[in-house]
Amino acid sequence: MASIFSKIASGEIPSYKIAEDEKYFAFLDINPLVKGHTLVIPKEETDYIFDIDDDLLAGMMIFSKKIAKAIEKVIPCNRIGIAVLGLEVPHAHIHLVPINSEADISFSRPKLKLSEKEFEEIAKMIRVNLS
Ligand code: AMP
Repeated sequence: MASIFSKIASGEIPSYKIAEDEKYFAFLDINPLVKGHTLVIPKEETDYIFDIDDDLLAGMMIFSKKIAKAIEKVIPCNRIGIAVLGLEVPHAHIHLVPINSEADISFSRPKLKLSEKEFEEIAKMIRVNLS
């Protein structure tokens, strides 16, 4: 059975999409730690990130870099932190989180509640800043 993230990549489940190419897909995390919190997945489904083939894994970081550079232009932050947990969804993904302090990327902190309009606006702003 396809993972929830495969269903997002195929469009079967809606998401606030940021970007995709033939191998990767980026979208806003629905329970963001901060505004601009984005997930990057390989379209090919693998649970554990360190089981991913070398070339696909390397490309995932390069794809993430493009997204991070766009997030930086939109969300005021010191830098984009990255995290990999995979404890909830068994489809490898990288969290890209705009941070100003260590606390901003603490997964035990309460998640933001954003409106659909806010999610849409953030996603659109990041999309237009992609190069
Ligand atoms: P983890 O697997 O521990 O890295 O956590 C999975 C992450 O995926 C969490 O931050 C969730 O908020 C996020 N998530 C789960 N379902 C969705 C969804 N349908 N759309 C966007 N983000 C999601």
